[in-house]
Amino acid sequence: MSRNMKCVECGAELAPNAKFCSACGAQAGLKKEVFQVSPEKLVEKFKEIAKDASVKRIVVKNENGRTVLSVPVTWGAAGAVATLALAPWLAAIGVIAGVATKCTIEVEKTPAVAART
Ligand SMILES: [Zn+2]
Repeated sequence: MSRNMKCVECGAELAPNAKFCSACGAQAGLKKEVFQVSPEKLVEKFKEIAKDASVKRIVVKNENGRTVLSVPVTWGAAGAVATLALAPWLAAIGVIAGVATKCTIEVEKTPAVAART
C-alpha cells in the first residue's frame, strides 16, 4: 500500500520521490506536529520542543491562526549553544505570550531523526 506524501506547507500531493514541493518549494518529507498551548505554557513548551535535534522549524500562531513567529532551527543538537541561540526567540515568545489568548505551535521535523524517538 502506497501513501502519497503531502506538502506540510501547502498540502499539495507530492511525487513519490520528490525532494521539494512542486507547488510551493518547501522541503518534502518533513513531519509536522501541532500543539495547542495556553500563553502561560508557551515559553516552556517552546524550550521543550527546541531541545529536539530533529526539529527544523518552529512556527507560533495566535488565536486567529496568524503566524506570529517562525523560527528556523539551525542550532542542531541541544546544549549550551542551543540555549544561547534560543535567548532572542524566547524574548519574542514572552511578548507573544503576553498578548495572546491562545497559541498554536507547529513543529516541522525531519522524519529520519524523528523515527528514532
Ligand atoms: Zn507545498
